[in-house]
Amino acid sequence: MTTAMTTANANEAAVAKYKNNFLKEVEATVEEGHWVKMCMQCGVCAGSCPFGPHWEHSPQKIFMMIRAGKREEVLKSDAMWMCTSCYNCMVRCPRQLPITHIMHGLANYSYRLGLSPKGQPNQAIAKLFWDSALKYGRVNELKFSLAMYFRDGFVQGVKNALAMQGVGLGLVKAGRLNPMEIISGHTCKDTSGIHKMIAKAREIEDRRRGLA
Ligand code: SF4
Ligand code: SF4
Repeated sequence: MTTAMTTANANEAAVAKYKNNFLKEVEATVEEGHWVKMCMQCGVCAGSCPFGPHWEHSPQKIFMMIRAGKREEVLKSDAMWMCTSCYNCMVRCPRQLPITHIMHGLANYSYRLGLSPKGQPNQAIAKLFWDSALKYGRVNELKFSLAMYFRDGFVQGVKNALAMQGVGLGLVKAGRLNPMEIISGHTCKDTSGIHKMIAKAREIEDRRRGLA
């Protein structure tokens, strides 16, 4: 049995424990999910979010849907992937819910279950960002930008790079982008230490969620 299959089966087994109680599932499996029940539906977060008019599901709506057991709608929503971590909602919430962290926790959970919406650009950015941080111990800005530009193929990548050349040159001039990073690798000093730390964190997290 492959590791992926083992993880998928373990995920299914863990999720089965919470059948018909999505709030309990979120409390047990999503980062800061135990806060959701504290939401009093005042709507301050929905009114504070710069994405407010563009979202189908504001944090307020998402938390109400969790409590109403709307598992599919929540986990398949693209709302969590739109959050820019501006923290507007979090500083204003009268109940002091860590809204931003819950939104990212939900995004992470839906991705792990394979339910997150496909083709969401922010999801691709998040994955490239995470893969780069994991591999190099820090984000290699140049490789990250190139991976973003070329993720839809070579021709589109060249078009993207040409369209953004002014911004790229500006970043190089300002010392914010170093072309030599592509050669130097731009890694942290102890990448193997980072890899061990992440492996341990995953082991602890899987144990906490009952997957190990
Ligand atoms: S601001 Fe806080 S309490 Fe009000 S709806 Fe949003 S999460 Fe709930
Ligand atoms: S942190 Fe995310 S959810 Fe909160 S206001 Fe900003 S974009 Fe909206």
